[in-house]
Amino acid sequence: MDRRNFIKTTGIIAGAYAITEPIVLEGIGIPGLESWFDKPMRWAQLTLVENDPGRFDPDFWLNYFKKIHADGATLSAGGVVAYYPTDVPLHHRSAWLGKSDPFGYLVEGCRKLDMAIIARTDPHATWQNVYEAHPDWIAVSAKGEKRHHWADPELWVTCAFGPYNFEFMTLVHKEIMERYQPDGVFSNRWAGSGICYCEHCRSGFKKYSGMDLPGRNGLSDPAFLKYTEWSTNRLKELWLLWDSTIRKQKSSSRFIPNGFPDKVITGQLSDIVFTDHQARSGQTLPWSNGKVAKELRASIGMKPLGGIFSVGFEEQYRWKDSVQSEAETRVWVAEGTANGMRPWFTKFSGVLYDKRWLDIVDKIYQVHWRNERYLRNINPLARVGLVFSEHSRSLGSESWHEKDIDHSLGMYHALIEARIPFEMVNDNLLDPEHLKPFKLLILPDIAILSDKQCDELRRFVDGGGSLVATFETSLYDGDGKMRSDFGISDLFGVSYDKNVEGPMQNSYLRLKSDSETNQFHPVLKELENAFRIINTIFRVKVAPHGIFPSPVTLIPTYPDLPMEEVYPRIPDSGTRELYLSDKGNCRIAYFPGDIDRSFWQIMSADHGKLLRNTVLWALNEESIVEVIGPGVVDVTVWRQEHSMTVHLVNMTNPMMMKGPFRELIPVSAQVSIKIPSGMKASGLHLLVNGGDPKSELKENRVVLTVPQIYDHEIIGIDLV
Ligand SMILES: [Zn+2]
Repeated sequence: MDRRNFIKTTGIIAGAYAITEPIVLEGIGIPGLESWFDKPMRWAQLTLVENDPGRFDPDFWLNYFKKIHADGATLSAGGVVAYYPTDVPLHHRSAWLGKSDPFGYLVEGCRKLDMAIIARTDPHATWQNVYEAHPDWIAVSAKGEKRHHWADPELWVTCAFGPYNFEFMTLVHKEIMERYQPDGVFSNRWAGSGICYCEHCRSGFKKYSGMDLPGRNGLSDPAFLKYTEWSTNRLKELWLLWDSTIRKQKSSSRFIPNGFPDKVITGQLSDIVFTDHQARSGQTLPWSNGKVAKELRASIGMKPLGGIFSVGFEEQYRWKDSVQSEAETRVWVAEGTANGMRPWFTKFSGVLYDKRWLDIVDKIYQVHWRNERYLRNINPLARVGLVFSEHSRSLGSESWHEKDIDHSLGMYHALIEARIPFEMVNDNLLDPEHLKPFKLLILPDIAILSDKQCDELRRFVDGGGSLVATFETSLYDGDGKMRSDFGISDLFGVSYDKNVEGPMQNSYLRLKSDSETNQFHPVLKELENAFRIINTIFRVKVAPHGIFPSPVTLIPTYPDLPMEEVYPRIPDSGTRELYLSDKGNCRIAYFPGDIDRSFWQIMSADHGKLLRNTVLWALNEESIVEVIGPGVVDVTVWRQEHSMTVHLVNMTNPMMMKGPFRELIPVSAQVSIKIPSGMKASGLHLLVNGGDPKSELKENRVVLTVPQIYDHEIIGIDLV
C-alpha cells in the first residue's frame, strides 16, 4: 500500500492537529491511590458472542486465565449486545441472557484472581428498534442512504460523531462503571466506519469549517484535510467525555480507545495503550508487530503498551473462529515482546470449536511469566533512531513520489538484516528530550520538514549527533510546499540541483578506493571486490558545496538493448551518490538516490550492505550489541532495574516474506554485549531455552554463544 492509499484508507493526514497541553490525570501521584496501569503483564480478552450466555462455561475461562498467569482481562460488557442486565433504554440485552449476568460473573471471578479488569464495549452497530426510535443515530452514506451493516444485514451502522456515541454510549459506560467498577472501559470500533453524511455530521462539519463534507475523492477534495481535522477533534472530545464519565465513578479507571488517529495526542491522553495489530496478512513481514510497538513508543514513551494478537488468521475473509499455526503465533508475539509489548490474546466466542490455540498461548505465557522480572523494561538501549512521519501527505503526481512509504520500509528491513538495535522517532517529537537517547538519526526520505524541525535537527547535530538521510529529505516545508533547496542543505553539504532523474534503466554505482591511500572507505566493507553495484531507481540531482570523498559515484544509464550496445558510455562520471561529512564525533551521510526504497523493491544484498556500513560509520561508537551467525534475527536491547536483556527473534524461514510459518528453524548466534558503564555483570541466563551459557568477559563486553534460537531467545544479564 503506498502512502497516499494509506491516507485514504485510514483517514489520517498531515498534521494540522491542535496539540493541547496534557490533561491533569486524577489519581496519579495521589497518596494512597495506587494506579493499576503498570501491573498487568499478560492480558486475556474474551469477546462473547450473542448466544454464549447459558451455553459457554465461564469457569473454564477463569481456570484458563489462572493457568496461564494472565493478570489482566478484557471482557465483553455492552454496546451492540449487553452481557449484563442493563437498564439503559435501547441497550440490547443478549437474547440468550435470561436472568443471567455473565459479565458480572466473569468480573467477580477475575477479581478473585487479582486481575485488572477492562470492560469491552462495541458501539459501531445497532438494531432495528434503535433505528426506529432514533433514525438520526444511524450512519448515512454519501448517497444519503442509512447504512445497513456490511456483514450483518439485521444491524445498522451507527454514527460515531453524533448522539449515539455522545449520549447513548455515555449512559452505557456510566452504568457499567456504576455496577461493576472495572479498571477501564475499552471501546472497539468507536471511531466511525468511514465518512458519515448524517444530519449531525453535515451540520457539525459545516459549523467547524464552513464547508460541505468531502466526497469520495480523498486528497483531491480540499474539504478532506479539514474533515480529518474535525473528525480527530470530535473523537478527542468523545474520548475526554467518556474518560471523565468513567473517572467520576472510579478515579483510577480510564477510557481506553482502540486506536486514535494521532499518536502524539495518544501519548498525551493515555496512561496505558493497546495496539490492535493482531497478526500478519498477505505480504506483511514478521517484524511488522515490532514496528507498530516502536512507532507508539516514540510517542507514549515507556507507558504500558499491550499488543493484541489473534490466535487465528487475520486475512480479508475474516475467519474469526480459526486457529493459526503455532510457529506463526509464536514469532508474532515474540516480535511484540522483544519490542516492549505486553501480550494480549483475543478470542471471540466463549464456546470453542478448534482448541489447539489454548496450548500455544499457554506455552508463550508460561515463558513470559517465568521471566517477568526481565521483561519489566525501564528503557530501550538502542542508540539509533529511525524517524517516521505519522501524517504524510501527497507531494505531487511525479513518478518518484509513488510508493513513498517504501523508503521507511526498506530502511527498517535493512536495519533488521544488519542486526542493529533501533527505536523509531516521531517527526513531530524532535525536541532534545525525545532525542536524548540517540547518537544517530536516520531520515528515510523525510521529505516534509518544517523550519522548526530543521532547526531541531541542527541542534541535534551541534550536540554531537549523526545523521543518515536519503533522497528528498527536507526538500519540502511544513506545509508540503517545495523549497528551492533542502531545508538542511547546510548539514548535507549539498544543494538541490533542480531535478530528479529516473526511473533509471541500467545505471550503476561505481565503488572505488581512495586514489591517494588505496584504502577502501568503511562504507564499502564486503563490497571491496565489487567494482560496481546496481544503482538506485531514482536520484535527486545535487550540487556539492565543497570537496567530498568519492567512494560511491554514478555510472549513468546506458542502453540495455540490443545486447551489442550494452556498454557504459561514461564508465565513471565522478558524480558522488553518497556524500559523507566527518566532523569528528558527528558524522553525516546523505544519499541522493532512493536507496532505501530501491532496497525494499529490489532487495539487492549490495544495497543492504551499503546501508548497513553507512549506518555503522555514521553511528561512530562502539556497538551496544553485535550478533554474528546465519539467518535473519531482530535484535533489541533493554534495561531493567537490576538487569539488561538482549532479545533475539528468529525470522529465518522460507515463509518469512509470505506467512504463515509452518515450523521453527533454529539458528545459532555469537553475541557480544556491551555492559553499561559503571556496572558489572553478575549473572547470565538464556531465559527462553534455559541454561547458563559459556561466556567470556572481554573488557566491558560479555561474549557468548547462543546455541539454538527457535522463535525467541532472551539473554538476561544481571547487573550490579
Ligand atoms: Zn454522522
